[in-house]
Amino acid sequence: MAEPVLAIRDLNKSFGALKATEGVSLDLKPGEIHALIGPNGAGKSTLIHQIAGTLRPDSGTVHFRGEDITVLGVAARARLGLGRSFQVSSLAPEFSALRNVMLAVQAKASSSFRFFRPVMRDSALIEPAMAALARVGLQDRARVPAAELSHGERRQLEIAIALALGSKAFLLDEPMAGMGPDGSRALTAFLDGLRTEAPILLVEHDMDAVFALADRVSVLVYGRIIASGTVEEIRADGEVRRAYLGDAA
Ligand code: ADP
Ligand code: MG
Repeated sequence: MAEPVLAIRDLNKSFGALKATEGVSLDLKPGEIHALIGPNGAGKSTLIHQIAGTLRPDSGTVHFRGEDITVLGVAARARLGLGRSFQVSSLAPEFSALRNVMLAVQAKASSSFRFFRPVMRDSALIEPAMAALARVGLQDRARVPAAELSHGERRQLEIAIALALGSKAFLLDEPMAGMGPDGSRALTAFLDGLRTEAPILLVEHDMDAVFALADRVSVLVYGRIIASGTVEEIRADGEVRRAYLGDAA
């Protein structure tokens, strides 16, 4: 079996008396979308923050591509190729889609040099930036300011930026939030193709999207994973239906 890209083992995090993460272990394997579902307040975002490095776990480990990253900061994890979640948008809204990706290409090039920051000319940035835009299907929107893109296109642009930064895995926290049905369908189709670029740990409330996309689903309730399996297994699980899915299943 392929080595997991991300391996989370026995993670624990409390806020005072509240156990927001309790003994959580999960893997993200190459090429897969692993969905994390659960009711509001279950601890999904808290878990994503610990994987992304914005929150430090009380105990447990996070390995990324074989390396223990448990105590690394956000920037160090991003340098290793862990794509950030969507919770804080990193876009410069007044800049074109292309310029936003060019900034990422420049940042990636600079981070490869330890002692000086080479200033690359635009001509050297445009080609890799256009390539990243093409990978997410935004090549025809290159000159449009980020602020004028649709909600879904901004998600695609954020992923183009992450790809330009060298992301080897994505942590997506509710990427469908605030989207209408058309936007959700378009983003679902897009994420479906993205898994071959880099595996995705996907927190999502939109069950149509989860059931359409997930290779595996883990269910988080009160900080604990109560079930993990294929879409069919999760849909058939009585405990999951009672705890979370209700009529949606
Ligand atoms: P979810 O993303 O599944 O809706 P969260 O991870 O945001 O859940 O929250 C899990 C629990 O932890 C909630 O009860 C929430 O109120 C609590 N919580 C989250 N962040 C903090 C924090 N920084 N301080 C205290 N409590 C927090
Ligand atoms: Mg959340």
